Amino acid sequence: MKSDACMFCKIIKGKIPANIIIHTEHAMAFRDINPQAPSHVLIIPKDHIPSCRYLNEDNIHYLSEMALLAQKVANKENISSDGYRWVINTGSDGGQTVDHIHLHLLGGRNMTWPPG
Ligand code: AMP
Ligand code: ZN
Repeated sequence: MKSDACMFCKIIKGKIPANIIIHTEHAMAFRDINPQAPSHVLIIPKDHIPSCRYLNEDNIHYLSEMALLAQKVANKENISSDGYRWVINTGSDGGQTVDHIHLHLLGGRNMTWPPG
């Protein structure tokens, strides 16, 4: 399922351009338009799942596919051995601004904790 109003569904359908790194059957990885680290990649499922709140037994396999793709991208970006951060912002307090679940892969610099 795709949502006509969703920006990330439009990227999946090729209706708006993106700097795509890898496609798999069910997930895709593209560069964040406003990078917060030297390597900042978004990993999304090709199905419209609005957020973590909408994960369930029928669609949870997308999260595994996103995780495996994020691992592959980290290797491709050469950030694997030094380390990186995965972030999935959820809802308004979580800082989510695009309502299509996405995993941020951030690397290439030292990350601080706690996050802002
Ligand atoms: P979040 O705040 O966790 O929902 O993250 C949304 C992310 O999507 C932000 O880091 C934005 O910079 C990024 N973003 C928004 N529009 C685009 C786009 N068209 N292409 C790539 N990244 C985008
Ligand atoms: Zn979507």
